[in-house]
Amino acid sequence: MSLKDVLMPFTAWGNLFKEPVTVKDSRNVEAAPRYRGFHVNDVDTCIGCGTCEEICQNAAIDLVEVAGRDAKEGDSGLRPMIDYGRCCWCALCVDVCTTRSLGMSNEYKWVSSDPEDFRFVPGVDEKSWNDNNKGYFKMDGYDLYSTERVEMGELHPEERDKSFVEMIQGFSKEQAQKEADRCVACGICTATCPAHMGIPQYIEAIRNDDLEEGLRILYETNPLPEICGRICTHKCETVCSLNHKGDPLSIRWLKRYIADQIPESKYKEILETENITKNGKKVAIVGAGPAGLSAAHYLALMGYEVKIFEVQEAPGGMTRYGIPEYRLPYEMIDKDVDYIKSLGVEFQFGTRVGVDVPLETLEKEFDAVFAGTGLHLGRSTRVPGSDHKRVYQAIDLLRDVSYGKEIDLAEKVVVVGGGNVAMDITRTIARLQNKKFGKVNVTATCLEAEGSMPADDEEVIEAREENATIDPGWGPQEIIVENGEIKGLKVAKCLRIFDDEGRFNPSMDMENQKVFEADMIVESIGQAMDISYTDNIKEKLTFGPRGRIQVSPDFQSNIPWLFIGGDIIQGPDVIHGIANGHKAAKGIDKFLKSK
Ligand SMILES: Cc1cc2nc3c(=O)[nH]c(=O)nc-3n(C[C@H](O)[C@H](O)[C@H](O)COP(=O)(O)OP(=O)(O)OC[C@H]3O[C@@H](n4cnc5c(N)ncnc54)[C@H](O)[C@@H]3O)c2cc1C
Ligand code: SF4
Ligand code: SF4
Repeated sequence: MSLKDVLMPFTAWGNLFKEPVTVKDSRNVEAAPRYRGFHVNDVDTCIGCGTCEEICQNAAIDLVEVAGRDAKEGDSGLRPMIDYGRCCWCALCVDVCTTRSLGMSNEYKWVSSDPEDFRFVPGVDEKSWNDNNKGYFKMDGYDLYSTERVEMGELHPEERDKSFVEMIQGFSKEQAQKEADRCVACGICTATCPAHMGIPQYIEAIRNDDLEEGLRILYETNPLPEICGRICTHKCETVCSLNHKGDPLSIRWLKRYIADQIPESKYKEILETENITKNGKKVAIVGAGPAGLSAAHYLALMGYEVKIFEVQEAPGGMTRYGIPEYRLPYEMIDKDVDYIKSLGVEFQFGTRVGVDVPLETLEKEFDAVFAGTGLHLGRSTRVPGSDHKRVYQAIDLLRDVSYGKEIDLAEKVVVVGGGNVAMDITRTIARLQNKKFGKVNVTATCLEAEGSMPADDEEVIEAREENATIDPGWGPQEIIVENGEIKGLKVAKCLRIFDDEGRFNPSMDMENQKVFEADMIVESIGQAMDISYTDNIKEKLTFGPRGRIQVSPDFQSNIPWLFIGGDIIQGPDVIHGIANGHKAAKGIDKFLKSK
């Protein structure tokens, strides 16, 4: 042993009089401004998407119910609770938070003898650091996922303004996978979708390039994926959590991508529907629209013999006879319907129930009936001149176009209405005028002012790109007729649409009037139902508000064998029809099994 080794322990004594390197009492020391301390959460901005919970590798986050906060569209009502016994302060939850509501204060000191105190809901439970602005927050422009959508290819206005060729081109595999990669799998979309589709699950199937699995997930809740993949009102996208700080996911186009990649001939094998055991019971369906088709599909899978009675010559309802082909090609409707036919569903076209076949006959010959007859009567403005023969209903013209009939088109047309149906007829007329006259002269006008038109913004933009004029904020007063010919539509500036009680009661500035020149007027201000086929049983049926037949959550009327759904009950859009048809199919099955 050397002398140095002997003296070494005593050299430590020298440190006694030096400044300590470590902190004696950490409670009085401030953390650095960006220190990651206890979490804070702006609970009004948070939507309870659970993405933070999902990413946490330590299972330190649980989404929990909090008092006074209920689930609503786009908000699960839950809020993250953090367990500081597990949290390692990695801040991944902050980096991934879709709304940027979650952050970390720079407060890291908390003394309590109760371990339960270290599990709390930031922003809900009172904490001294709740208003602390220092700490770790997601920086602007920094995200773990892309906030921008993969752009969808579409035909330029000059390529589409004379043609009914589909304008949206669809994703390639690379584009679809890139877009699917943006999904944080929160599922907030599923709660909002009327059919509660397994959206994050089919998006994951795209990411995994397992499109057969994707198709199976689609068909669990939606038997019209080609139709919905093109024209669904995509309520899911309006609540997508990515919408809070970027573009929502292109959920509709991703659904279309799956269906587009798989030929219908492979569906039965993939969906394992080659051998369905029949149960010997029969169900009649009135109307081959989305509601009727959906009910037929799920009933056929349950083993029922299903026959659809349809007044038109082809299936699809308003998706074929309303929605123009440039948005939804007929062959795509056929693809969805061909698969339903392949399950054994029978169709009888050109048959109006209530006229060609009484409803009572269906009652006698079938075990149950589902009616999904839609809204097929146009509503008139009833202004003077609206009974002129050159005043048309949008849905009648759109039906004629679908049948390939030549419509008696004028060079100057005015469309009354500002919804999506009005945009469909305006853009259809623009194409037909361009083909026939080489120029477009169609004006759509409505009560609502610019910015509050009921039509989707993209529809208005695209109509203008196709050279239609959209001049909103006017109320129709009179259709001017001279020598038996329409000369125009007189309108007055609309001041407001609803009165103080919220009733539809438009008021106009009669000092501010003008005339839209026109040789032909098209009205597109809404549709009504024709349920005259129920006339013989009307006294037995219970009606609810707005003349709608009352139904149970299973869409069963108070006449047990009669189920009713789709636009005549709820909607009006395709996905509600699909959801109604599916629920009605389950209801019919329950009813017939209990008989
Ligand atoms: C121009 C237009 C554009 C639209 N665009 C969109 C869109 O982009 N996205 C969207 O989601 N929705 C859209 N909709 C709405 C959508 O088409 C409807 O909500 C949907 O088709 C309703 O489905 P349904 O089955 O209830 O009724 P329908 O589709 O109307 O089908 C009812 C069927 O019943 C038949 N029928 C009626 N009475 C009888 C009878 N007595 N006997 C036998 N058959 C009968 C009809 O001929 C019809 O085929 C649009 C509608 C229109 C008019
Ligand atoms: S990720 Fe953000 S918005 Fe979603 S639950 Fe967590 S804190 Fe709330
Ligand atoms: S599509 Fe949007 S809302 Fe749906 S799971 Fe993905 S991120 Fe969430």
